[in-house]
This record gives sequence, structure tokens and C-alpha cells, in this order.
Amino acid sequence: MRILSILTLALIITAPACAQEDLPKAQADRMESRIQELSQYGRNADGGVDRVAYSQADIEGRAYVIQLMKGQGLDVRIDSAGNIIGRRAGSDPSLKPVMFGSHTDSVPGGGNYDGDVGVMAALEAIDLLNEAGITTRHPLDVVSFSNEEGGLVGSLAMTGHFKPGALSVVNASGLSIAEGIDAIGGDHTRLNDARVKPEDLTAFIEVHIEQGGILDEEGLEIGVVEGIVGIDWWDVTIEGFANHAGTTPMNKRRDAMLAAARLTVAINEVATGMEGRQVATVGRIRAEPGAPNVIPGRVVMSLEIRDLDKDKMNRTFAAIQARASEIAKASDTAITFDYVDVASVPTPTDPRMRAIIAKAAENAGLTYQFMPSGAGHDAQDMATITPTGMIFVPSRDGVSHSPNEFTSPQAMANGADVLLRTILAVDQEGL
Ligand SMILES: [Zn+2]
Repeated sequence: MRILSILTLALIITAPACAQEDLPKAQADRMESRIQELSQYGRNADGGVDRVAYSQADIEGRAYVIQLMKGQGLDVRIDSAGNIIGRRAGSDPSLKPVMFGSHTDSVPGGGNYDGDVGVMAALEAIDLLNEAGITTRHPLDVVSFSNEEGGLVGSLAMTGHFKPGALSVVNASGLSIAEGIDAIGGDHTRLNDARVKPEDLTAFIEVHIEQGGILDEEGLEIGVVEGIVGIDWWDVTIEGFANHAGTTPMNKRRDAMLAAARLTVAINEVATGMEGRQVATVGRIRAEPGAPNVIPGRVVMSLEIRDLDKDKMNRTFAAIQARASEIAKASDTAITFDYVDVASVPTPTDPRMRAIIAKAAENAGLTYQFMPSGAGHDAQDMATITPTGMIFVPSRDGVSHSPNEFTSPQAMANGADVLLRTILAVDQEGL
């Protein structure tokens, strides 16, 4: 044992940047069989999973992950927020851990890959290190966050941003977040204990399926995530005048629905007419009084804008407002925008981590592109306390939150290969 560790140390000292080309490759079949095994917990009739956080299926899936971690020799603990953390010791006790992982809970009617691929890629990286006999300088923490789909509960608690008011929220398991945290081995009365301070971590990395279908469509193997987009919401109210739909001539109408329709088209034109990848959506609309024979006097609809750049979001909104005032004038209606405070701010990943991940993809011989994440992830919380990087792998047709989610075994293995190379680069060369 002693000789072995000295040899390992010598290897690290003599050839720090070496290993990237000689590293063992992730085993696609091993990852696939683990995904299949995990998918038994909460399996639904459509071939996906109902593994909602805190449910019996979630508890069983978590036990499966813990068993895999223990089999790899990791030192496993559950923090007070219910996050599962498996530690692999490093050789330098003065260094703080590199953390990586994702989540295994699902939405109701979910699939077998969202979150799961990130946890399995993390475990695969540990297997490859074990098999190659590599001891990193930093400790490595594999994490499976609790209740990601129900509001990023585990990662918010870990970063100190969880709002205690949410403890009473009940999810599809039938348990409140407080009860659920306790049911999975945490302790909702000591959530502060789960907190990790910036000085306690070196970096965080998450592998995840890409839910926009861009990698799949373009035939690319890896997405280097530039950040998680910010989200702004408004309630848009259009006031016209309700009147008889039979007797009011077309040129005498103040039709709120017609103005809403024009505004909906204008929102789409603004978002597509500007440079960049901003998106703007009208997802909900209600007309009042809502009868076939009455010209709508009032319409309330939603507006959502997402982008990586807050400034760009503001400019998109300003352009929409300008179009709205033209439409209001032309249709003799009044249009007002009320900001809905569910906003999340754009969270860029660490530029140094992006560069390391891109190089790792190159070293692994994989094609890649830089891209934003349009969906929220635990990584957005972790980015508030530590240099964070995110690695996307393709999801067929971009389908997610559905039993039809599919990521091929090789695509998962590619993610694990890039993850391993990223971990080693951070470990050996720093940020
Ligand atoms: Zn996810």
C-alpha cells in the first residue's frame, strides 16, 4: 500500500499534465446499466419515473446511489438538507474539495436522464480514478442534491439561500419540504449546518442533459455552459371596452383581445429581431368577460423574458414596451405591465471553468460548443459560492421532463470523460 501511494505521488509530481491523453475512457455500458438500475425506482407505465423528492421511490433511488458510493470506497454522509455527499480523500490535507454531481429526483412523469446522468457521470469519474490508481491532491466530493425539481432545495440550503418560508410547501410526495427533508435523513431544524462557505470549496462541476435539443440537432457531443439564464415575468393587462359582439361595428371597437393578439406577435418579433439568444414568451392569456358574443373588455396575459445578460433582458423589455404603446394607441386600449417577483438573475459560469471544460473536451477528442442553459440547475446556486462549470450532453430531440427523455450510453460516457479531465485539470493545474 505504502509503495503504491509513493508511486502514485511520483507519477503526479513527474507528469502533472500527462495523463489527459492516457486516461482510461468512461465505460458506456457501465453507465447505461446503472441508469437502468436507478430507473427501476419509481418506474412508471410509460417507461419513465415518478421519483418525486421525498417519495418512497426517491428514498429507494437515494439508497441505490449511497450503495454505489460505498462500493467505490467513498466516505458517505447526508447533510442536514438531505444532500448525499461521498468523499474521496486527497493527498494534500490543506486543499479544499472539488465537488461535482447533480440530482436523482424527478418531476412527476419524469424521465431517466435529467439529473441522473450527472450523478452517474460523477460516479463513473470516481471509478476511473480508482481503476487508474490516481490520487488527486484535492479531496473529491460527489454530491446528489436533494429535491432539485421542487425548487433547488438542497443546493439553496448548501449555499445559504434557502428561504425557510418554503418549508411548508407540499409536493407530490404528500410531504412538506420540512417533513421531506427529515424523511430522507436530513434535519430541517438545522438547515444552517448544510451550509458550505466559499473558502470550503475549490470548485463545482455539474454534468447534465441539454434540454434545448441544440446539441442533438447540430450533432455536437458536448456543450460548455456559459451560464444559466435569468428569468423575468410580467402580468400584462390590456384594457379595452366590453361591448355587444353583434351590434358594435368593426371600426367602433376597443377590442382588448385583438390588441393582445397584436402584442403577442410583436413580442415574438422583438425577441427574434434582435441579435442574440434571448427568448420572450406569452404563455398564458385570459379574456374578460370571456363570452363568444362579447367583445373582450379586458385581457390579462403573461410575459416571460430569459437571457444570460440582464442588460439584454432589459433592452428586450424596453423594445416590447415601445411596441405596446404603439399598439395601445392604434387600438384605443391601455396596456400596463406589472412585474411579477419570481425573477431569477442570470448566473454566468466561471470563465476559467469554461476554458478548462473546453480544453477537456478537446483532449477527449470530442466536438463542443459554448451555450447558455435555458433551464435552472443546482449549478446556478453553487456558482454563488464557488467557481462553477457545467457540461451538457445531448438529449434526443431536446425532450426532458418526460418519459421520452433519451441520452445514449456513449453520450453519457463522453460527459464523464470531460468531467474527469476537468477534475484533474483543476486538481493539477488550478484555475
Ligand atoms: Zn435536472
